[in-house]
Order: sequence, then structure tokens, then C-alpha cells
Amino acid sequence: MKFSRKRELADLVPTAFGLLGRAKAIDCLLASEISGWRQGRVDVTAVPKLATAALDYSEIVVVGQAQNYAHEVGLELLFACPECGRKRFERPDHGLVMPAVCWDKTDLFWVYEISLTFATEHARQAIEGCKLTGVRLTPIAEWHDPLYMGKEAERRKRGILISE
Ligand SMILES: [Zn+2]
Repeated sequence: MKFSRKRELADLVPTAFGLLGRAKAIDCLLASEISGWRQGRVDVTAVPKLATAALDYSEIVVVGQAQNYAHEVGLELLFACPECGRKRFERPDHGLVMPAVCWDKTDLFWVYEISLTFATEHARQAIEGCKLTGVRLTPIAEWHDPLYMGKEAERRKRGILISE
């Protein structure tokens, strides 16, 4: 799932801390029995320019997650923060795989190692059927990383790192 970074307000809006969804999006996910998320409360205040926009947003917390993804897929560890333990793994430059053994059976799930949200076919049909704006779904085989610089460049940029 790729969320739009455009400035206008959409049905699904990413923030620095997570994802917001309008009531339309919440209703869509509930009606389609999409799993892997929960609703959180949020107060949205509009700047004057947006005063007429629909601001009926809630937080959408994606709670589904892949297990053991880096290990199953064989992703290389690029960086591990000595302070907080956060790890960054090499992302494939093109095409993703999703081993069934990693999948927690939710419709929306987060893959920590590559910082991407995945949607099942069931979720895709619901999101597209409801015509939710602010999100684009790409088949995982066609996914490519627009920021991929190649493995060596990634390493230099990240400054290397800690072995496993
Ligand atoms: Zn850190």
C-alpha cells in the first residue's frame, strides 16, 4: 500500500505517526470485515483554508504484522541503531515476496523490516470497491523501490554497522 503525500485531504492520510482515515474509510474496512487494524481516536483541527473539508478522521492503527520476514526472505541487515535497537534491512530493488509462513492471516499488515504495509487481495478489493482516495495498491511482484541506490551506496549512506 502506498499512501499519497499530496497536500489535499484524502480518505486515507499518512502522518508522521501513523495513518488517518475518514469515516468513509473506517466504514468501508468494517463493512468488508477487513482485519489487521483498529480504530484510534484523534482530533483534527482545520486551518482556515480547509475549514469546509470533511474532517471526520480517526486513526487507523495497523496491527497486523509479518513475523520473521527478514530471516525468511534472507534480507541483509544494513544498520542497527545502538541506542534504540531499530534495524534497517536491505530492501529488494524490484519485486517483493511474502512467504506464507510469515503471514499472520490479517488483511492489513505491516512488514517492519522493509517499512511497508501489505494488503491482501480481499483488502484490495474492499479499498478499491469503496474508491478510497489517498492510497495506491501495487502488486508485490511489480513493486520497486524508487529510492534504491544499490547495496553499496546504501551501506555508505547508512555508514555501516553492526553485524548480526
Ligand atoms: Zn535509534
